[in-house]
Amino acid sequence: MYAQVIVDIAHSQVDKIFEYSCPPYLKAGSRVKVPFGKMLVDGFVLGVEERSSFPPEKIKPIAEIFDELPALQPECFSLMERISSRYKVPKAAALRLFLPSEMRLGKVREVYKKYAKLAHISVPISKSAKKQQQVLSFLEDKTEYDFTALCNMFGRGAVNSLAEKGAIIVEKRQIKRNPFSGMEAEVKPKTLTYMQSNAIKSIENSSKSIHLIHGVTGSGKTEIYLQIIADVIKNGKTAIFLVPEISLTPQMLSQLRARFKGEAAILHSGLSAGEKFDEWWRLRSGEAKIAIGARSAIFAPLENIGAIIIDEEHDSSYLSETAPRYSTVEVAKFRAEFNNCKLILGSATPSVESYLAATEGKYNLITLPERINKKPMPEIVIADMRKEVKRGNPSPFSAALREELDATLKSGNQAIIFLNRRGYSQKVICRDCGYVAKCENCDVSLTYHSEEDCLKCHYCGARYRMLPACPECGGVHIRYSGTGTQRVVSELSSLFPAARIIRMDNDTVSGKDGHYKILHKFAQKEADILVGTQMIAKGHDFPAVTLVGILDADMSLQFSDYRSGERTFQLITQVSGRSGRADMKGKVVLQTYCPENYILRYAVNYNYSGFFDNEIEIRKATLFPPFSLICRVMVTGEDEAKTLEALKTVYFEIEKLRNFDSKQFLFLNKMHSPVKKIQGKHRYQVLMRLKDEALLQNIYEISVAATTPYVLVYVEENPTNLS
Ligand code: ADP
Ligand code: ZN
Repeated sequence: MYAQVIVDIAHSQVDKIFEYSCPPYLKAGSRVKVPFGKMLVDGFVLGVEERSSFPPEKIKPIAEIFDELPALQPECFSLMERISSRYKVPKAAALRLFLPSEMRLGKVREVYKKYAKLAHISVPISKSAKKQQQVLSFLEDKTEYDFTALCNMFGRGAVNSLAEKGAIIVEKRQIKRNPFSGMEAEVKPKTLTYMQSNAIKSIENSSKSIHLIHGVTGSGKTEIYLQIIADVIKNGKTAIFLVPEISLTPQMLSQLRARFKGEAAILHSGLSAGEKFDEWWRLRSGEAKIAIGARSAIFAPLENIGAIIIDEEHDSSYLSETAPRYSTVEVAKFRAEFNNCKLILGSATPSVESYLAATEGKYNLITLPERINKKPMPEIVIADMRKEVKRGNPSPFSAALREELDATLKSGNQAIIFLNRRGYSQKVICRDCGYVAKCENCDVSLTYHSEEDCLKCHYCGARYRMLPACPECGGVHIRYSGTGTQRVVSELSSLFPAARIIRMDNDTVSGKDGHYKILHKFAQKEADILVGTQMIAKGHDFPAVTLVGILDADMSLQFSDYRSGERTFQLITQVSGRSGRADMKGKVVLQTYCPENYILRYAVNYNYSGFFDNEIEIRKATLFPPFSLICRVMVTGEDEAKTLEALKTVYFEIEKLRNFDSKQFLFLNKMHSPVKKIQGKHRYQVLMRLKDEALLQNIYEISVAATTPYVLVYVEENPTNLS
């Protein structure tokens, strides 16, 4: 028999199918090791056939077969084709998406115990192969035997050659690790409200395959998802449930585990390699039927999918920022099509793109305008920080926020303080000469972290000692500008010495259950105030929180990005949604330097449709996405001359496209990227705004062709981060 193999080398020159001879029991989808040149490399079996078009002496045998149950299911190969042609990546790079990275390159294989048993089929073994005969008679009266022990007794060669001939079966079995054992909170299914059951009926009865649930925060979307998943499982199918960030997953997971027990499996980057491997195989083997996780869980090894749910669909984490730079919603559409199943997108603040598709009738739109039990939305009060400055208030807290904090603490409730940044302070500036401390590898300013008394680069993680004096002018008047979470915490503790305060941001969160521990502590009311960045904005449900303070609401308005209005609206709505979720009325204090801004006006009144109508008019008039496509070709490399050369080539080729079809280009230019260097790599870009997707494939092709061993060239579509 002959196997068609894709070798696990993501390079366009080996992006083809190779043939190897193989034993008859090899199945399509298996992971194998094959000789490739002078090396042994991993590969994926695309198919197995009886004949080969090559002369037999040219064909080498497969060296090793990994799993009894093929790791890749048939759908993977169909998705592989779509992904590699859509994002112009080698087939191997597309296939890698389907396997946890720990599973590749043999990182966790050894953790598993192998067992061998007789295959009970007649395979002729030559009499002269004494060792092999001995293995067979040894196994005769045993149901199975430890594979390593067998190799030690009779030699690895004999045992392997029996396995290759199919005379014995080697099986891997796992020692199961449960990543979140003991975390199951008891969650009973709720009796659905009228609105919730209507939503489910609408999803069931609609002829459309994509559904958008636009429900205000606290409208009971989660319960709808759980009910849909329960129905899908009851019908013998499987489900994928995506949430934006791992910080949310433990909370959601404990709900799902309590409800679905072992049928739910979690896939996320915070798990140990072994745990990830176990959870993945539980899904692949059919033991678990619900995959929960962030972006990459869209590639969960499930068959017969009944529903794919994407919660907080507007979240930017659903766009991959490493190759292949896929859109999760787009991949979800591929999978929904293949499985002929429903795709459900949910959000309190849908992306402008999705909401437009819904209003145009492409998606089935479901609106939940009220919270469960008609609970009022928290009142949002604007605090004008310009007046605070005039009044001589230097602290990051307005008088209004201080009063509300005081009242909240006195009543025994909890508060969340949100701000957009990390670290104690922002930049480190010399007041004498204006020198700003920057990273040596990256063109970004450093941030002071008081707990460790050091400067950190948030791009590459490099640490520097705090400067005793300015390296430029020798001056000692070094200042920190801006406010970070650490400074907020220390100011809060001097304002409210009795309050218990915890902080959650990238610096305090580490380890797989770091998020969980902090959130759990807060949920148990072991702290009164939670201070945090973006991480605390989404999804959490803390019943005792009655106050949310947003310290710098307009921070994100200052970015020169067409999406900054949308981002700001989403952020305010999401953070506000954490307040007053249970019986007590919630309040939000929103601090801003531009209270007259229209985005803030819509957000304060929870007026999504007002915001949307306004925003879509602007986008239409200015021809920004979704009425055009922003495309950036990044060109990065250590050698600046080579990088510039590649940039020139890319630009030259794209200019040719423009000369041919100038109407497609609303904008085209080449330039330094805003962050000129990251981790020692120079960064240049060709930025363009295209009328539509017509030329996109050409641009991908130009980029693939311009990539060299020294310079990386890649395409980003409507990038969320233009740094
Ligand atoms: P969303 O995901 O839309 O923000 P949640 O699903 O978190 O909202 O629901 C908000 C609150 O309402 C939660 O505390 C949840 O337990 C409660 N809830 C949801 N559905 C029901 C229901 N049918 N009956 C009673 N309470 C419900
Ligand atoms: Zn750096």
